[in-house]
Amino acid sequence: ILAIEELQKSYGAIEVLKSISLSIDAGDFLVLVGPSGCGKSTLLNCIAGLEETSAGTICIDGRDVTNVPPRDRDIAMVFQSYALYPTMTVAENIAFGMKIRRVEKSEQKRKIGDVARLLQIEHLLGRRPAHLSGGQRQRVAMGRALVREPKLFLFDEPLSNLDAKLRVEMRAEIKALHQRLDASIVYVTHDQIEAMTLGTKIVVLKDGVIQQFATPAEIYDAPANLFVADFMGSPP
Ligand code: ATP
Ligand code: MG
Repeated sequence: ILAIEELQKSYGAIEVLKSISLSIDAGDFLVLVGPSGCGKSTLLNCIAGLEETSAGTICIDGRDVTNVPPRDRDIAMVFQSYALYPTMTVAENIAFGMKIRRVEKSEQKRKIGDVARLLQIEHLLGRRPAHLSGGQRQRVAMGRALVREPKLFLFDEPLSNLDAKLRVEMRAEIKALHQRLDASIVYVTHDQIEAMTLGTKIVVLKDGVIQQFATPAEIYDAPANLFVADFMGSPP
């Protein structure tokens, strides 16, 4: 579903991503993990098309999208700051993208109902973001991504604003959602436990270089180097 070849990204003279190559299949849950500043968000933004790449290619579902604008990439992104529209209700927030794409009203209603049921936010549809808890806002942001029915979901540390207890709960929900929808996901975190529990594949990144690209079991059994062993083995 996603194939990246020799992707490079520089800001001026600073090379942030160095020859990144990886590919995942439909239904995979790829976690990008690594210390702060290693280039996780930059890589995700390149996949989304929010950042221009300096070299290399990105294919989504067999199509070279390297020079395709974000809205035509068939992706949906959930950010750390959920960036909900404060003046709109939950239902309007979820519907906004569909409205722009002129999806029929009845179809919008049906889809809002479907994701609201899935995410258990049916009772919140009339509320505004200011009157929601952090976890509820997070669900709304996911709802907004889900109604787009994209080929690929991109998450950038979606749980980092939540307290520890809620984070563990939402982690389980995202995992269940992935299994239920058989969705293809790229998920950024700096939390090793999150990476190990959520990922079907994990990329460990350091200074813009892939240290290991493997399944959680492989990383656990045979870390590629001392950095991977240290980073994945230490408590978050
Ligand atoms: P964190 O876990 O803190 O979110 P990250 O792994 O997501 O970190 P990135 O945001 O991808 O890291 O940043 C990677 C590197 O690129 C950092 O050194 C950062 O300072 C640099 N960087 C990011 N955006 C820009 C920019 N617009 N101009 C120059 N340098 C940038
Ligand atoms: Mg980041």
